[in-house]
Amino acid sequence: MHTALALLAGPLFEHSPDAILIADTNGVVRDVNAEFTRLTGYAREEIVGKTPRLLKSGQMSLEFYRTLWQTVLSGQRWRNDILNRRKDGSLYWADEIIQPITLDGETVLVSFQRDITELRRMREALDEERARLDGFLRASPAVLYAVPATGTTQPLFVSENVKDLLGNLPVEPCSDPHWWLERIHPEDRDAVQRTLDFRRWPDDTLLRRYRLRHADGHYVWVEDKVTLVRDGQGRPQFLSGALLDVSREAEQRALLDKLARHLPGVIYIFKRTPDDHMSFPYASEGMRRICGIDPEAVREDATPFFASVHPEDQAAMRETSDHSVATLEPWRLLYRHVHPDGHIVWAEGEATPERQPDGSTLWYGFIADITARVEAERKLREQEVLYHTVLDNLQEICYVAEVTPEGFRFRTGNAKLYELFGLSPERWIGASPRELFPPQTAEHIEKNLRRSLEEGRTLRTETAMATAHGWREFSASITPLFDENGRARYLVGLVMDVTEYKRAIRRAQEASRIAAERAQTLKTLLDAVGEGIFGIDTDGAIVFWNPAAERILGYRASEVLGLDAHQTIHGQHPDGTPHPRQECPVLRAMLENKIIARKESYFLHRDGHLIPVLLTATPVPGSGAVVVFTDITQIKAMQEELRHQAETDPLTGLANRRRFFTALLLAGERVARKGDRCAVLMLDLDHFKAVNDRYGHAVGDAVLRSFAEILRDSLRSSDLAGRVGGEEFAVLLPHTDLAGALLLAERIRHAVASYCRVPQHPELRMTVSIGASELLPEDPSPEVALARADAALYRAKQEGRNRVVAACATSQPD
Ligand code: GH3
Ligand code: MG
Ligand code: MG
Repeated sequence: MHTALALLAGPLFEHSPDAILIADTNGVVRDVNAEFTRLTGYAREEIVGKTPRLLKSGQMSLEFYRTLWQTVLSGQRWRNDILNRRKDGSLYWADEIIQPITLDGETVLVSFQRDITELRRMREALDEERARLDGFLRASPAVLYAVPATGTTQPLFVSENVKDLLGNLPVEPCSDPHWWLERIHPEDRDAVQRTLDFRRWPDDTLLRRYRLRHADGHYVWVEDKVTLVRDGQGRPQFLSGALLDVSREAEQRALLDKLARHLPGVIYIFKRTPDDHMSFPYASEGMRRICGIDPEAVREDATPFFASVHPEDQAAMRETSDHSVATLEPWRLLYRHVHPDGHIVWAEGEATPERQPDGSTLWYGFIADITARVEAERKLREQEVLYHTVLDNLQEICYVAEVTPEGFRFRTGNAKLYELFGLSPERWIGASPRELFPPQTAEHIEKNLRRSLEEGRTLRTETAMATAHGWREFSASITPLFDENGRARYLVGLVMDVTEYKRAIRRAQEASRIAAERAQTLKTLLDAVGEGIFGIDTDGAIVFWNPAAERILGYRASEVLGLDAHQTIHGQHPDGTPHPRQECPVLRAMLENKIIARKESYFLHRDGHLIPVLLTATPVPGSGAVVVFTDITQIKAMQEELRHQAETDPLTGLANRRRFFTALLLAGERVARKGDRCAVLMLDLDHFKAVNDRYGHAVGDAVLRSFAEILRDSLRSSDLAGRVGGEEFAVLLPHTDLAGALLLAERIRHAVASYCRVPQHPELRMTVSIGASELLPEDPSPEVALARADAALYRAKQEGRNRVVAACATSQPD
């Protein structure tokens, strides 16, 4: 034996657990040990001198053997799993090491084989299991890893799909302590490093998010959930982690954030675990605006969010959340947040819950900031209140009717309306006309509503209805309101109660009719009456002038209207003197506000002559006065005639005794008071009885008339002759003394003797005796003077008749 072999021989060689085969570089077997025989079935003598090709399974490639020989012939150790064939033909796997050894200049190849068939089978099974696991791991989005719980960052295990996450790494992670921490984004590294000491973790799990550098240089967001695995005694064993690529999620989150930033509210995912831990795994930036809370601050714990809910809304928030989690019904709530800056934010939240396999619940939701809306609604309500206040204070009755497929239904109304019909708003609103009014009225209302709707414009109607206040008349308008599609959905009715108004109008019309009738009657009357009627205003100007006034005074109305009445027709007395205004009965009636009735006066005719009138002036307070007057010219004439007749002797036309004595009395006064001179004559026809006796009474009368004629012709107009007895006459001679009287008396005596004739008896001659006297201031009465004249007459008779005798101034009548 080779000396070297001797060294190898011995117990070590024989009892080696490996099957050992020694061959030369040509492949000729020199020796094998017992284990080799046991493994391959070849006894020593059966293999020595032969080549190991005996063992070839035929399953290994030529390339495999070529590499083997090249390696060992180049003096290098070769090791590999190899499938060999036993002597009995069965195959076995061996972990074979071939070590070239050079001893004393000669190189031998020592092969150590260990049967690993079972191991391989197990390993294959394990590989299979592992492949399955790898498949599973690869299929799972998470990269699983394990790190010793010693603080090292070199992993025990990293799942295959790490390639999917980070690309092909240049070094196997498990053999690279820097594979992980060094790949973390510099900005995230500090935060991650602070999590490395698991003793500081609140419990045995940790969730961290950071960016890892991909092989191609870009960063991927990962969510890294780590769990501390303990052994049976609770000692930390290793850390098991799962890296989840959340880049897409992060991208989506970024996109969501971007979108959400433009939303008025918060988009969020809210999580509630079975043990009631609450968090917002995601909340958009809006949360900062609405509640003043950083979305990051509630990612793990929602407490700050709930703290910002208005104290009065927290109970509702809790109740609705509990209800939603219990029933999985959507959560919905209108509530308030108190923003850190103190202002109140109205929020409307709604979210859809989803139960998770672990029993926790996720809500996907949205919280809208509806402060503006609430504010707008508040304003709207305010406006509505204002609108209703305005409506209720409208004098008009007003209502809104809705057009529904079933017909008209009343909507709003105002206080006036409810009061008018004695209805409550509850009865009115939603009711149809038929439900509120008698059939005929309802029909009328509906007809008008329909007409306004059909004509598409405001319809005005007059109507009368029974109301809580009796039968009332209305002026109504109905206006259709069109929506943006041109469809009329509502009609607005305005109704004015015109009962009083109409009544007043009717009354006014009636009054006006009566007044017109009266005016017409009055005009007819005024036109027809014989009385002149004119009116004056407070300034005295003529404002009215009736046809009779035209006729009496010669002025047409158009000529005198506006003229001063007093000045125009009333300014002059019959004797030509001015008629002062203060004496004017018409102006006095007006100024003293009293009726001055049946006053005789004179109005000036247009021609300039005065018209005697009987007037009644009636004041019209505030307006002036009305004057009614009658032309009394004829009456005046008749009066004059009567007066004349009463004072005249019918036979002779001379003044009668009464008139004569009246004149005598006046003359006596003038004489007594003014020292006037006045004389009287007494005359008596001579032997008149004989005329009567001889010619008859009629001739006597004719003689008397002839005598009167002579007297008249003999006297001045201021003288007065009167018949004071049957055939006795007296003459009053104003401004005449006794001498003058005697002269006149003589003239009369002569005239009578010469001219007193009767046509039937031309031969008849008459004479007269005359006594004359003068009225004396000392006379107790003028009749004393007349008596003196009479005494003188007596003397004249006695002295032979046909003569004139003057009375003695002192002599007393006989
Ligand atoms: P003597 O001269 O004295 O006067 O005489 P005498 O006849 O005239 O007498 P006396 O004067 O007394 O007469 C009066 C008469 O006059 C008496 C009477 O018959 C008459 N007489 C009186 N009145 C009238 C009258 O009106 N007509 C007429 N024809 N006769 C009258
Ligand atoms: Mg006589
Ligand atoms: Mg005589």
